[in-house]
Amino acid sequence: MSELHKFIFEDLPVRGMIVRLTDAWTEILRRREANSRTGAYALPVQELLGEMVAAGALMQSNIKFNGALILQVFGDGPVKLAVVEVQSDLSLRATATVQGVVAPDATLSAMLNAHGQGRCAITLDPKDRLPGQQPYQGVVPLSDAQHKPLASLNEVLQHYMRQSEQLETTLVLAADDKVAAGLLIQRLPIQGAGNLEGQGAGQSEDDQQEHYNRIATLASSLKREELLTLDVDTILRRLFWDETLQRFEPQIGETAPRFACTCSRERVSKMIQGLGEAEARDIIAEQGAIDVDCEFCGAQYRFDAIDATQLFKPAGESPPSSPSIQ
Ligand SMILES: [Zn+2]
Repeated sequence: MSELHKFIFEDLPVRGMIVRLTDAWTEILRRREANSRTGAYALPVQELLGEMVAAGALMQSNIKFNGALILQVFGDGPVKLAVVEVQSDLSLRATATVQGVVAPDATLSAMLNAHGQGRCAITLDPKDRLPGQQPYQGVVPLSDAQHKPLASLNEVLQHYMRQSEQLETTLVLAADDKVAAGLLIQRLPIQGAGNLEGQGAGQSEDDQQEHYNRIATLASSLKREELLTLDVDTILRRLFWDETLQRFEPQIGETAPRFACTCSRERVSKMIQGLGEAEARDIIAEQGAIDVDCEFCGAQYRFDAIDATQLFKPAGESPPSSPSIQ
């Protein structure tokens, strides 16, 4: 089961979060694999997308944004686009568009930044957008300030968070075909002067930075294999055995990040009804059926001549679907 755990370091201005996505992640992979047009992701794409899903869940949970957090990577190699959308209730979906061949050992640069044009965008799209209000978007390149390509997604996102949120952040991400997981450590915003309550009160700026650096170094020592295979308690104990953690109620099951896509057979039915009967029947006559793929999750919906008859049946002729009990 997918789970998300939050914690703070007692008396230190540092917070942390760890996410392990299992069912939420494997459902994304299952749908992609079942799509007859695309088939499964190549392994390096699977790893990239899994890391993005874990990062998206951590970032959304970290800022608790009332709307969708959309993490996108626009590539100039075989991976044209990879996107993860995480809603405020932590329901999420993800997809990648791949054109051409991704080598089994392809690096992030080879997949996305072959010509140095790769970009990563984070969009915050408010739930109740006011008229004229634009979603907020921050964009960072997949290279550092010296135009040297960044080797991993966590470096790209750490760069983004330092730039946009002005918060020092350490991310460790990993994914395989069963688990997408991530650890986030963040320095808390500096409290106003004279605020003696709360985290890090009474410590000098240098002290605070030192504490953060120590914890960030511990976090960075977490190996990919450990993040994928160990349970959360073991990871936290191994990394931070000498620190005092305050842990919050974990989010597991209903409240954990989970897969959800807005596509459905009903939605596609309405779209086909919108085409009109003549056009729908033309397509079916020509191609045998109307096939619609959900671009986001890969689900495939097929409507043949019999389905079309049902869709365009005049109102009132449809048999009662379930007898009502009086
Ligand atoms: Zn879908």
